Amino acid sequence: MSEEKSLNFLEEIIEKDLENNTHNGRVLTRFPPEPNGYLHIGHAKSICLNFGLAKKYNGKCNLRFDDTNPTTEETEYVESIKADIQWLGFQWDEELYTSDYFDQLYAYAVKLIEKGLAYVDDSTAEEIAAQKGTPTSPGVTNSFRERSMQENLDLFSQMKNGDFPDGAKVLRAKIDMKHVNMLMRDPVIYRIKHAHHHRAGDKWCIYPMYDFAHGQSDSIEQITHSICTLEFVPHRELYDWFIEKLEIFPSHQYEFARGNVNYTVTSKRRLLQLVKENFVESWDDPRMPTISGFRRRGFTPESIRVFWDKVGIAKRDNVIDFSLLEFCVREDLNKIALRRMAVLDPIKVIITNYEEGKTEFLPAENNPEDEHAGHRDIPFGRELWIERDDFMTSPPPKYFRLGPGLKVRLKHAYIIECTDYKTDENGQVTEVHCIYFPESKSGEDKSGIKVKGTMHWLSSAHAQSAEVRLYDRLFNVENPASEEGDFKDFISEDSLKIISTAYIEPALKEAAMQDRFQFIRLGYFCLDKNSKSDHLIFNRTVGLKDSWAKEMKK
Ligand code: ATP
Ligand code: MG
Repeated sequence: MSEEKSLNFLEEIIEKDLENNTHNGRVLTRFPPEPNGYLHIGHAKSICLNFGLAKKYNGKCNLRFDDTNPTTEETEYVESIKADIQWLGFQWDEELYTSDYFDQLYAYAVKLIEKGLAYVDDSTAEEIAAQKGTPTSPGVTNSFRERSMQENLDLFSQMKNGDFPDGAKVLRAKIDMKHVNMLMRDPVIYRIKHAHHHRAGDKWCIYPMYDFAHGQSDSIEQITHSICTLEFVPHRELYDWFIEKLEIFPSHQYEFARGNVNYTVTSKRRLLQLVKENFVESWDDPRMPTISGFRRRGFTPESIRVFWDKVGIAKRDNVIDFSLLEFCVREDLNKIALRRMAVLDPIKVIITNYEEGKTEFLPAENNPEDEHAGHRDIPFGRELWIERDDFMTSPPPKYFRLGPGLKVRLKHAYIIECTDYKTDENGQVTEVHCIYFPESKSGEDKSGIKVKGTMHWLSSAHAQSAEVRLYDRLFNVENPASEEGDFKDFISEDSLKIISTAYIEPALKEAAMQDRFQFIRLGYFCLDKNSKSDHLIFNRTVGLKDSWAKEMKK
């Protein structure tokens, strides 16, 4: 973070707290995912914020799994969440689980009952909802609210012991059924759920509700700044009420705007549907907005951190352009990616005046942006591959690529001129004939020939075949979740294009998983995790230019 950058509102709060020595100079934040899915790009914002603030103010950040809902949570998700946070470049201080506080939370509930501030209610969920009233009309109380403390203690203990079936009873806080804040109208704090928990096993058949677990967990850990997204603003009053009545460490909740990105969905529930219903291959499908999807697609952790830093922290919800994310990864990859050549849709070029059987090795820099990146030697010969797109039989004026009579430079090699071409019975070009100018070699060009276009190419005798996967936006509308009907109806047909005809230069045979490449004129690429040495698969991370900007101007 640069010095001149003004502080965001959370930094201002923390700096004031530090000035006033509010928590003895301590800053302790936490990132509290529910392990019910893989983390997405929105979570990355919260991670960058919570871990970033701790780092900036010499504090600490806990990773706390908010695992109070036994039916949706799995250990697989816990592991993926940990891997994703570390990949993003952050390390938690302590790894904690709300489920480890179940005994403590139970004791807190008992304390509320003893203070006359909680009661067991036998009403059904529908009755409770009906009695709650509406934002404009007050709720009503029921007779269960008048139960004695002892009766409540006994019933709550029986609930815990498994004496009742799911839904038979709940424990509610006794606050105010006429409160203007609906969440304060005697919220349910414990429910019966006979379900196996991914960590607690079968020890419990009652589970605390989010509102009764979150603030108290913050308090148990002595979190100084509990940062969450704006939808929790109305919950803050309840958060404070529990802390006050239980007389426990006063953690405070602060809310910031959720980070949303267009042309995708950031909700684990929806992402789970995409996976379960096979709209995508897996949670880490490179089209998914999950952190693992971006990783597999070739995004760098740096690019995601810079993205959220550019977006900043606000108190109003906003939707960020996917293009900004692509801009950030392009900027990063431009600095680090090794330049290579690949031809996705090849046609053969024959250099008729080049000696048959001869191979020259021409030096090519690995990355002009990085003087330490060195160079490799690429083979050149009589037969080459070029991109089908780069040849036209009747080119229009100002066409700077190849066509009959036209000259172009082959990158790192020679200038060539097209003299002839062959077609098959369908008129499809099968072979392009060219001559080369021996004097025009890159780096030592004495030919005096001027050309406007430079093209990528491969020596066909040395090229390796590979599979290349091109990705585009997963959805064809900006905000699929807000469209009428099922968000899955808006999945784009063009989100994945598999190209099995590609050729790559020999140096790419040695590609490793962590390597980043720029295929000249085609974009940035990385190996896919399913790539094998005898079947290389490259994912396109992003094109070289923002093709969507052009689309929108059309
Ligand atoms: P989802 O609806 O995708 O399940 P969630 O908020 O229920 O999201 P949690 O696992 O509870 O997911 O989230 C962990 C933390 O990440 C919470 O503090 C939450 O506020 C934050 N978070 C979730 N989504 C976003 C987002 N889009 N932008 C910023 N923070 C987010
Ligand atoms: Mg949640």
